[in-house]
Amino acid sequence: MIKYFAVTVVLQLLLRYETDSIVVQKQINGILNEGKVVVFSNDIDVEKQNLEIQYDITQAPNITDYSSERQAIQWLTWYISIAQKAIKISTVLNFNYMTNITRENLQKYVAQKEFMSPFNRQTLPIMKRFNHFMQYSTNYDLKRIYSRGAHGTITVDDQYIEKTSKLRSQMLNIYSTTTVCDRLKCYPLTPDLDEMMHVEKDYDRLLWAWKGWHDRCGNKVRPLYVDYIDLLTKNIQENGYTDLTEKWMEPWETDNFEDMLDQLLDDVMPLYKQLHAYVRGRLCELYPYRFNCNGPIPAHILGNMWSQQWHERLDDFLPYSKTRLADMTKILQRKNVTIHQMYLFAENFYTSIDLYSMTENFWTKSMFERPKDRNVDCKASAFDMRNTDDYRIKICTEVDDNNFYIVHHEMGHIEYYMAYSKSQPYVYRDGANSAFHEAIGDTIGMFAICPTHGASLGLIDENIIDEKYEITYLMRTALQKVAFLPFAYVMDKYRFALFRNQIDRSKLNRAWWDMKLKYGGIMPPVERSEQNFDPGVKYHMLANVPYSRYFLSYILQFQFYRALCKIGQNEGPLHLCDIYQQKAVGDQFRRMLAMGNSRHWSEILEVFTGETTFRSEAILIYFQPLYKWLIKENIRRDYPVGW
Ligand SMILES: [Zn+2]
Repeated sequence: MIKYFAVTVVLQLLLRYETDSIVVQKQINGILNEGKVVVFSNDIDVEKQNLEIQYDITQAPNITDYSSERQAIQWLTWYISIAQKAIKISTVLNFNYMTNITRENLQKYVAQKEFMSPFNRQTLPIMKRFNHFMQYSTNYDLKRIYSRGAHGTITVDDQYIEKTSKLRSQMLNIYSTTTVCDRLKCYPLTPDLDEMMHVEKDYDRLLWAWKGWHDRCGNKVRPLYVDYIDLLTKNIQENGYTDLTEKWMEPWETDNFEDMLDQLLDDVMPLYKQLHAYVRGRLCELYPYRFNCNGPIPAHILGNMWSQQWHERLDDFLPYSKTRLADMTKILQRKNVTIHQMYLFAENFYTSIDLYSMTENFWTKSMFERPKDRNVDCKASAFDMRNTDDYRIKICTEVDDNNFYIVHHEMGHIEYYMAYSKSQPYVYRDGANSAFHEAIGDTIGMFAICPTHGASLGLIDENIIDEKYEITYLMRTALQKVAFLPFAYVMDKYRFALFRNQIDRSKLNRAWWDMKLKYGGIMPPVERSEQNFDPGVKYHMLANVPYSRYFLSYILQFQFYRALCKIGQNEGPLHLCDIYQQKAVGDQFRRMLAMGNSRHWSEILEVFTGETTFRSEAILIYFQPLYKWLIKENIRRDYPVGW
């Protein structure tokens, strides 16, 4: 009976919508056009804006029928006008805090969250109720906007916001203030320990740094992290989700999301295993009798605190002892390139393929250097200030090859912001998914550091590019991008399991290393215990940032890269393709960026690459020459494969 009733209601709704569809489209066009007219001033008067918001909230339309598209649109118009103002304020307060870490700035940011929480608490259930009906709407936009809007969660009490914010900032505070001391001095992670992991070769000195950081940071955050996750889980369950994992997967709008990740990792595993075997063999020769040459690699000798990327130790893994890559850091420094010029370099690549120049606000309001007079969060990031032409970055830039890459990466976020903000209404101003956002700048960065491009700019001598040079270049890229995949995979695999309560709380650290071993062949360099909490020494764990976006972006950037080369009719090997100054190539790229998230990401991807999902083909083709070389070389050197 209930079933029959439901079907009738839906049918009636569908019929009614059919006849009203033209009217509905006109009304939704109102929402889709909004935002283009609202111009905010650059300076923000929080108090005044909040007063406006308070007034706007009282103007909520009266809802009598959740199945009415007209009411759904009316309500959405009201909701968006407020949400748009609110997000602008919180973005400014967040930027202010990140670029000037003071108690006062944190307080302002948290207070704003608390100020808006009754609004969110009041509107989300309404969003969900409308969505219940609008999921059957024949109007694509109405359906899409409600289905995405109904994703959110509400918090039951303000104490919860206070408690979680406090725990999170306590953990991040431990992360940013922990130091490791020897007899001479104390070393913070950035820049000292980071740098030590990159350049130090002494096995025991590296072990000292690794263990010091893991013990001092990880042990301290362990109880906080557990409390934090428990609080988040409780809240998410009160919102009707099974666990945090379910919530994290929601934005991907993908069935079998985890299977997709598993499959991609499986696909690249043969390549990874060859790379792992080669690197382990070389390390075994460098550090004889320190570890088993047939087993996993100790985590501290891969040139990175988290062994997430291994390219810093390229010199120890050179395929040909006499072939070295042009040293970008030295080139930049020799040419006296300034921090500002690093940005001009990147901007020049983007504009050469007809993407956007940076705006006035970008140049005047970003934080390009670590300021001397205040404490800041140096983690590189890009901000869409939700204000006309106001996009900013915050990077403590140094002039070196890593930063050259980071600058391209962050500018990629800005290009994306600009492309969709110019073409899309507020509701669609976002990446097609978060992996898209991460992949844009990396894709362009790959072109920017490509040897053929370096030669065309006169940065490197064209004559040095030969087969050996190419293999060395591919090796560097693989150490950076292939080595990263199992690392990134485990970051979320572990949390998915933790959130689902599949990890015994008394074995949190053990479970972490079990996964590191299973998927990446990496082990802790010393005995670990359950006093330790080694996953907790990574920023994204403590900031609770999901990591699948990075895993997927490292697959996707090769899909983008290959598609761009195809459009540019590049006939040579992928790794030497250059699209610099090919405006027609960039044009198609920009068209994809401009779609924001107005359609499901698979449709957007298809428009550009012809593929409808994440696929490993492009990355495997890219590394094919290196893969062949590794197989031969591992046999020649008698290096075993696997762990
Ligand atoms: Zn990013």
